[in-house]
Amino acid sequence: MRYLILTDIHSNWDALEAVLRHVRRKRYDRVAFLGDAVGYGACPNRVLSWLRELHPEPLLVRGNHDRVCAGLDSGEYFNRFAREASEWTLDNLEPRNLEYLRSFPVGPITVDDTLLLCHGSSLDEDSYIFSAYDASLAFESTTHPVTFFGHTHVPSLFTLDPDHHIDVQLLSGGRTVVDLEPDHRYLVNPGSVGQPRDRDPRAAYAIFDAEQMRVFTYRVGYKVATARRRILQAG
Ligand code: ZN
Repeated sequence: MRYLILTDIHSNWDALEAVLRHVRRKRYDRVAFLGDAVGYGACPNRVLSWLRELHPEPLLVRGNHDRVCAGLDSGEYFNRFAREASEWTLDNLEPRNLEYLRSFPVGPITVDDTLLLCHGSSLDEDSYIFSAYDASLAFESTTHPVTFFGHTHVPSLFTLDPDHHIDVQLLSGGRTVVDLEPDHRYLVNPGSVGQPRDRDPRAAYAIFDAEQMRVFTYRVGYKVATARRRILQAG
């Protein structure tokens, strides 16, 4: 099984479209989406319609922005930009997309004995995994060898070795390949499709090959000016 792993699209259709163009010749069996389909960007309906119409249906978990944009939470603790964007999103969602967004399950979700998916961490969709300490809490709360998470918008890899040491790595650059070892455990963040926060403006995504136990991460340029114009035009 090969998974196309996407997270934090944030209504950025231009970035998602560039990713989809990039994966056209790559093989994958199923999309796994780690939350925050919407919020910030100007194309929430296009992004949600794409997810909704995927065959086979994607594995997915809810993100914190999905929760607020769906009106399930007031988002009073959001900064002004995030809050205004979520209010705009809720006002502009087509009814079937709002209904779909409201149906996103709260993570973590267990795919099988190997793979777990979550938004922030396995403990809480709002928790951030930035440090080895954050990672240690997530490792303690689960037994899965491989967890994919999002939320930080930073492509990163946390490795727990058999001596309980945690190694922290940023997955920077246009393409990385990580071979997963059988006696280690991993937390992997593919990075954000629609709003990278690691000073590389390109869209980020990953492919996980569960047979070969190999993770590929990629960065893809997209038309940032177009995405920006759409946001300005949306007011
Ligand atoms: Zn996010």
